Order: sequence, then structure tokens, then C-alpha cells
Amino acid sequence: MFGLKSSDIGIDLGTCNTLIYIRGKGIVVDEPSVVAVERGTKRVLAVGHEAKRMLWKTPENIIAIRPMRDGVIADLESTEKMIRYFLSKALPHHFNFIKPRMIIGIPSCITEVERRAVEECAYKGGARDVMVIEESRAAAIGANIPIFEPAGHMICDIGGGTTEISVISLGGMVVSNAIRLGGDEFDEAIVKHVRNKHGLIIGEQMAERLKIEIGNALPDKTIEKVEIKGGDAVTGLPRRLEIDSVEVSDALKDPLTQIIDEVKRTFGHTPPELAADIVDQGIVMTGGGSLLKGLPKLISRETGVPVILAENPLECVALGAGKYFDNVRGFDISRNIYDNINR
Ligand code: ADP
Ligand code: MG
Repeated sequence: MFGLKSSDIGIDLGTCNTLIYIRGKGIVVDEPSVVAVERGTKRVLAVGHEAKRMLWKTPENIIAIRPMRDGVIADLESTEKMIRYFLSKALPHHFNFIKPRMIIGIPSCITEVERRAVEECAYKGGARDVMVIEESRAAAIGANIPIFEPAGHMICDIGGGTTEISVISLGGMVVSNAIRLGGDEFDEAIVKHVRNKHGLIIGEQMAERLKIEIGNALPDKTIEKVEIKGGDAVTGLPRRLEIDSVEVSDALKDPLTQIIDEVKRTFGHTPPELAADIVDQGIVMTGGGSLLKGLPKLISRETGVPVILAENPLECVALGAGKYFDNVRGFDISRNIYDNINR
């Protein structure tokens, strides 16, 4: 068509962040998965960074939605609008001429219906052809793990709403465990702790800031402090509070334990030969949640297996989905990876 080459696009449709990778160009979109719409008319007012700034601060007539929260499409219409918007941003000139082919990373715990919903959104959002790939597999490829070799690799991806732990060998998923718990729950745990211990109500964005600035999975020798602001639970009046890293570590204990249990459970389902490979090569961590200070170390300590943080934990899924085009033949005929390659 007009001599233009179609773009091949890898998408990480995350609960927190959407990333778009174009082969030959790199990551062209990296924005929060948030849409702000007008109540009633559902008119989209903002998407991405701009919409995130509105989250939790909206007046009555505006709603800010995180359509992918909990790893699934909570709101089809806004997901579609979000995809369309990000695509038009990624392909400002070509978009009207030739539709792109897309590989989209999705959590492996989502249902058939949810998977079809993602595909439908992508088509409506402007794709010519769509495939989906399990996030873990995409993350592994993006982390440059040689997954097509006959050796076991364990990948632990901690996103905003889900944690996915998988064992991959010969390019396929051997074991896959996913829980609907991720970095968002770390924030919620901090909110809860601050309310219970200090009678202060803080927002999730404040909690996220605390987590990123002074959060630590392993209590450190050096104690860091940060000042936070919130509303008093009794009087409702705003006040400040100084909080330290030890407290934040305490607050995070519960969700972290659940993740560690899930890693252990995954080993329980792993064939011994592959487990032996993983002991040698280590568990690779991806996703924003894996950036919590001390987390790789904690998991290593609890499992006795080395743990490696991927080079670009937040970008692995998008990169891997994009690179996966090299491994797929007859894309136009094969509708998706699940039907044609895996099973
Ligand atoms: P998703 O795939 O669900 O979109 P991401 O992989 O983008 O999720 O990770 C988002 C999560 O990572 C959020 O909960 C965010 O707070 C968390 N996160 C990002 N950076 C850091 C950091 N430096 N330390 C701890 N958590 C982080
Ligand atoms: Mg993710």
C-alpha cells in the first residue's frame, strides 16, 4: 500500500504502564495505563501521563480509569480508546495508511474471554493482525534469556496488579503461576499501615512514593526517613508525619511473603531437571515491582537460589513481544500464538 512497510509492534499492556516497541525504532510509548473520561458522555479527556495526574484528584464530572487494573480489562471501551490513542502516538504519520501488526503481552492468568477482549480492543484500536503472548515469555525474551534452548529458566515478573512466575524451556511455558498481587498491593499495604499505626490517611500515590524512595524488602542498617502528608483519621485535618524505612519494610512483609510463597510453589511444580538448571542460572526478575530495593536479595535468601534483576525490568515485556516477530512464521494466517504455536 503506497509502498509503505507495515510496522511490527510489541505492546506491553500493563496494569500500570503501557509500552509500545516498534521494530527498528525502539520504545516509542511509555505511559501510565490511565484514561480520564467525562462522566455521562464518556468522552475521553486525557490518556497516559496527563490522565494519571488526574487520578484520585478528579472533580465530580471527570473519572480517571485504570482500565487494565488487576491485569485484566476492567473497562473495554476505555481500553480500546487507550490503545487507539497510544498507537496514534506511536505511529503519527503511518497510522492512516497502513495498519500495524501487533504482538501483545498479556498475563497468563487471564481467561479466554479476557484474552479475546484484548484482541478485540487491539483490532478496534487499529491493528491489522494481532497475536497475544504470555507476559512471562515476552519478558524472558526481552531480558535476553535464551528460552529456545533445552534448559529451564525461571522468570518472576512483578507488575502493578499481578505477579507471574513461570518456568520456560524450549520456548514454551512449562509451569506458570500467577497471582493477582503486585506493586499496587505494596502501596495499599503502606496506606493501611500508616492509617492503623499513625491514624493518618494517605493516598496511594503518596504510598507509592514512599515505597520507591525508602522502601526496602530487607531492613537496611541505614535508616532513611521521609516526610509524608495526609488527613487525620479522626479530625480529618491535614497533617505531616515523618516515616522511616523500617516501618515501610514492616508494612510490606505480608505481600512480600505471598510472592515468596508463590515462587516456592512454582518450584514445587517444576520438573527436577529444569529445577537443576534454575539453581545454576538463577531466577530472573522483571517488572516494576522487582525494582523494590532488596527484593531480589530477599527472594534469593528465602529460596537458596541466585536471583538476577533484568537489565531493563520495566521494558522487558514490550521488547520481548516485539522481538517475538522473529520467531513467528505466517503471522497473517496464524491468528494467535496460543492456537498455533503453543498447544
Ligand atoms: P504493569 O506491568 O502491571 O504495568 P510495571 O511492570 O510497569 O507494571 O510495574 C509497575 C509497578 O512497579 C508499580 O506498582 C510501581 O509502583 C512499581 N515500581 C516502579 N518503580 C519502582 C521502584 N523503583 N521501586 C519499587 N517499585 C517500583
Ligand atoms: Mg507487566
